[in-house]
Amino acid sequence: GEKIRIGIVGYGNLGRGVALAVPQNPDMELVGIFTRRAPADIDAPEKSTPILPVDALTDRRDDVDVLILCGGSKDDLPEQGPALAAHFNTVDSFDTHARIPEYFAAVDAPARAGGRTALISTGWDPGMFSLNRLYGEALLPDGETYTFWGKGLSQGHSDAVRRVPGVAAGVQYTVPSQEAIDAVRSGRRPELSTREKHRRECYVVLEEGADAAEVEKAIVTMPHYFADYDTEVHFISAVELRRDHGAMPHGGFVIRSGNTGGGHAQVVEYRLQLESNPEFTASVLVAFARAVHRLNAQGQVGAKTVFDVPPGLLSARSPEQLRAELL
Ligand code: NDP
Repeated sequence: GEKIRIGIVGYGNLGRGVALAVPQNPDMELVGIFTRRAPADIDAPEKSTPILPVDALTDRRDDVDVLILCGGSKDDLPEQGPALAAHFNTVDSFDTHARIPEYFAAVDAPARAGGRTALISTGWDPGMFSLNRLYGEALLPDGETYTFWGKGLSQGHSDAVRRVPGVAAGVQYTVPSQEAIDAVRSGRRPELSTREKHRRECYVVLEEGADAAEVEKAIVTMPHYFADYDTEVHFISAVELRRDHGAMPHGGFVIRSGNTGGGHAQVVEYRLQLESNPEFTASVLVAFARAVHRLNAQGQVGAKTVFDVPPGLLSARSPEQLRAELL
């Protein structure tokens, strides 16, 4: 049949990941990369994909089946999500958890008015982790849900470290506590404090003349980001930062520990171990783009989340194949 025509909006880490993920799906094709920057300044993944200014989308409403929005959650998606959902089917990875209800409403109205389908907040968290929290709670109503993140590079915490006076560059890793994970896996349903679940490791390059002790204190006492955790600060050179900390690994666990009616302990675990957070997130967005295309064809318009998507719609296989091969 016809291939699903995908457009990418925003070409950062996630956008590059989507450009790598689409060719792994034979039922899809990448028709364009749309950016706010001058297209000439951007390195294309392969010469056949046109890089165009985002304004060019106005003339392309009939040439794209699904736009995958790869802008940042803080400043880009709140603006681009509602504007583009009026005219296109969209998928995004909006990950500011506290603002999801507000963002859903902002995207839902224009999508409904335009007869489009807009799937928000997918990826791994929110996304695959959300689904696994839901499965755990639905199957084991008497239980506790635990989410651990890492070991992984946290963009938000790395940015916070870089804003500290005296810091030239730096990265932050979130590290789950092995003891806490073991306690949860035992089925005993422990109560864990924030400090017991994760610790934070920072690798920092100092500006010339900066006071290491002062920088360390400013980091470990920073409210919201570090004050509630055990934080280690390591000072390294710019060369070491480039050599040892250039990748974007991440991952984590969602564990539901519950007891069924006879009192038996039941522990369910979903684990991700990712060499590249943006490439994996992009792969999730692409599978959901297939589902969005199908939902729209069924007349299901408006904003949707991962909870609204029947799992079979994610697969390139037909329902008949799925019943025969994966059930
Ligand atoms: P980036 O900062 O790499 O890119 C965000 C946007 O910034 C791009 O779309 C691009 O827009 C612009 N941009 C990128 N590079 C440059 C540059 N060199 N100069 C100027 N502008 C640039 O963010 P990521 O791709 O790493 O992440 C995007 C979002 O994905 C995050 O904000 C996060 O919310 C979300 N995310 C969600 C996950 C989940 O599990 N749900 C997991 C991981 C990320 P343009 O091309 O238009 O200039």
